[in-house]
Amino acid sequence: MKHQETMLNTLTKENRLNGFSDEEIGDEHFYSGLETPMRADAFKVSDEEKKYKIAGLFAEIMDVMGLDLTDDSLKGTPNRVAKMYIDEIFSGLNPANKPKAALFDNKYQYNQMLVEKNITFYSNCEHHFVPIIGKAHIAYISSGKVIGLSKLNRIVQYFAKRPQVQERLTNQIAAELTEILDTKDVAVIIDAKHLCVSSRGIKDDTSATVTSFYGGVFNTPNKIAELQNYLK
Ligand SMILES: [Zn+2]
Repeated sequence: MKHQETMLNTLTKENRLNGFSDEEIGDEHFYSGLETPMRADAFKVSDEEKKYKIAGLFAEIMDVMGLDLTDDSLKGTPNRVAKMYIDEIFSGLNPANKPKAALFDNKYQYNQMLVEKNITFYSNCEHHFVPIIGKAHIAYISSGKVIGLSKLNRIVQYFAKRPQVQERLTNQIAAELTEILDTKDVAVIIDAKHLCVSSRGIKDDTSATVTSFYGGVFNTPNKIAELQNYLK
C-alpha cells in the first residue's frame, strides 16, 4: 500500500529537473547514469506474479481507452503483453538472465583488435516504451583471454532487453566487456533508430543516433581510425 502511494505521488506530482518537465525530459532523452534505475526489491516478486499483475494492469489501460476486452482478437492481449514484457523484451532487467561468459585462452596469439560488427538489436526507449532498432559494433584487444563470438552478441541482446537510453546501453555493454575480458581495450559503437523520434513527436524518419565508447588504447585517434576502417 505504501509503495502504491509513493508510486501515485511520483505519477501525479509535477516533476521538474533543472527546470524541465517530465514530458520535456522524455523528448530530450535525458540520461541519468550507468545503472538501470531499479528498486532494491525488484526481484522479490516472481516472474509469474509479475506477469499476472501486468496483465491485469494492461487490461485496465485497454479498458480505459474503451477497447472491448470481450472481443476475440483483444481478450488475449493483456496476457500476451505481460508475457512479452517479462520473458522477452524486458528480460534483461533480471540479472538471472545475464549470459554466462566462458573465456578461452588466446592460443592463436592474435593480438590485434577483434571487431564484431552489425549486431542487430531491438530495445525500447525508457521514456516512451517504443522500439529502438539498431546495430552494435564491438571491438576489443585480448589481454590473454578471448570470448566466444556469439557471447558478444548475447551480451548486446541482454542489455538491449531493458527499457533503455542509447547512451546507457552503450556504456553498460562496454562496462560488461571491460569486466569479463579483463581489459580496458574495449570499444562499442551503436547506430540506432528511435521510433519515439520517427513515429511520433518530431516525426523524423531519416535521422539515426550514434553513440560510442572508446576505452584504453581505443581512445586514441589512430585506433579510432583503424576501427572506423573495419566498420566500412
Ligand atoms: Zn523516447
